[in-house]
Amino acid sequence: MDNHLRGLLKDVKNGHRLTEEGALQLFRVQGREVWDVAAAADVVRQKKVGDAVTYVLNQNINVTNLCVNRCGFCGFSKKPGDDGVYFYEKEEIQKRAGLAKSRNVTEICTVSGLHPDFTAESYVNIYRWILEAAPGVHLHASNPMEVAYAAKKSRMSTREVLSAMKEAGLGSMCGTAAEILVDGVRKVICPQKVTTAEWIRIIREAHGLGIPSTATIMYGHCESEKDRVQHLAILRKIQDETGGFTEFVPLSFIHMNTPIFKEGRAHAGATGREDLLMVAVSRLFLDNVKNIQVSWVKEGVKMAQLSLLAGANDLGGTMFEESISKGAGATNTDYLDPAEMERIAKDIGRKLVRRTTLYELFP
Ligand code: SF4
Repeated sequence: MDNHLRGLLKDVKNGHRLTEEGALQLFRVQGREVWDVAAAADVVRQKKVGDAVTYVLNQNINVTNLCVNRCGFCGFSKKPGDDGVYFYEKEEIQKRAGLAKSRNVTEICTVSGLHPDFTAESYVNIYRWILEAAPGVHLHASNPMEVAYAAKKSRMSTREVLSAMKEAGLGSMCGTAAEILVDGVRKVICPQKVTTAEWIRIIREAHGLGIPSTATIMYGHCESEKDRVQHLAILRKIQDETGGFTEFVPLSFIHMNTPIFKEGRAHAGATGREDLLMVAVSRLFLDNVKNIQVSWVKEGVKMAQLSLLAGANDLGGTMFEESISKGAGATNTDYLDPAEMERIAKDIGRKLVRRTTLYELFP
């Protein structure tokens, strides 16, 4: 290992805050130094959260794939009249929520397309229906884009929408719609989405109202390593101020059915090196975020296992139903049995532990 890299990793392992310049260097390592970065992140993970590999029993309900936006990385959304459009009415939503409850899930996650007829009331109703059919479950829902959309449609402020959602039972918000928090990149991949400044403002509002959220990045399309660092720096700054992020979830771009890939404006996803480094550098840079989740849906189970040796400590949810990554062409999307999670954790000498959405561990 080069002396400079050795010094940098030693400093971070000793608790020095990694600079943006340092993170950029780590994103650029190649060859066997990739393992050195992963090993340093693994040491930091062990010091910070121990050896448990956590997971949550959850179920997704994606209420509709109709969406007024057409993000270039999205293979899920449909326009009225397209083949495969679906929309769940109250009865279907409650049937799915009831099924989730009967499976003993502790979390229901709902994010959907931006239905042309949705208002703030639509979201509030969906949350109430879910909780009526699955009382006591933690509702992990919405994201800054949905909040901004509901606010615009109902002529409310985003803070008012968030308060109404909280009142209806929203337990925590999805930190999605972040993609890459650099407007130049957003213009290419999701020009109709909230801007970087809006995303930050809504997340801060949510945290200020006592609604925690996850934090995410969607990488491996057309962003640069510098963009990734800028994104992480924004998240670290918000977390310094609010402490409202429960976890960070790197989401590797699934390219197959997406417009930006088909039009030649994006790569065919991240490489294995990039996937490992994204987890490792996140662990090293986000010193104020306790949990780094690896998405088995995006990365596949084998890569997810390796990521647990590169700084990640959480495998996310069992899922039961996931349509968004499937729409983009992912094949690992349906359900990951806790028995399989246990097998991959045990195989690397770690213990699988069930958790709630907010990381309370089951005995
Ligand atoms: S990513 Fe979300 S907002 Fe964008 S097109 Fe897909 S469903 Fe709509």
